[in-house]
Amino acid sequence: MIFALDLEGVLAPEIWPILGAHFELPELSLTTRDLGDFSELMHRRVDATRSRRLTLKELQAVAHQVEPYLGARDFLSRLRALGQVVIISDTFHEFSEPLVQKLGGHSLFANRFELDGAGTLSGFKLRIRGQKERIVSGFKSAGFPVAAMGDSLNDLSLLKSCDYPVLFRPVDALLGQFPGAPVAVNLDEALAHMQAAARREENGTRAE
Ligand SMILES: [Mg+2]
Repeated sequence: MIFALDLEGVLAPEIWPILGAHFELPELSLTTRDLGDFSELMHRRVDATRSRRLTLKELQAVAHQVEPYLGARDFLSRLRALGQVVIISDTFHEFSEPLVQKLGGHSLFANRFELDGAGTLSGFKLRIRGQKERIVSGFKSAGFPVAAMGDSLNDLSLLKSCDYPVLFRPVDALLGQFPGAPVAVNLDEALAHMQAAARREENGTRAE
């Protein structure tokens, strides 16, 4: 079984608002909850960092201090005993790799930045946005059942395409899309839902 998990809001806090608070740049604190168009949101974030001439290194110095939620590392290691763990996120590798190492070094599928010669952000490559469903479908067509967990609307395609969706402290709009899906308010509950999914898969009693 493969456990495909969102990162920010599930295993660790959101990184951009932390950057926004640190650099006193409110534009960085906007999230997909404020602005539905992710590409526009990212353009605004990149422009904001450029207006201050912040380099990727300066941003990373703060982003790399972000710690996982308490218990998240243990949660993942328990899941790892039941199957493979992959983190599929709209975050950026340049920000989140150290965080993923702190979580136990599981596979991260995320986006990348583009830089100019001065080391400031000049753009971004969205490899994940819109592709979560494809990743999950790939696993499934290779014969791996997938359980997924996310908290927000940007996880919709991940959760819709998997076999066992779990909602983690979901925003209302996401909750409305999955009537009857298991909801977890902490990682203990999330683990119980994932274990139940693994058991159902083992017993051949997957709910359609
Ligand atoms: Mg999230």
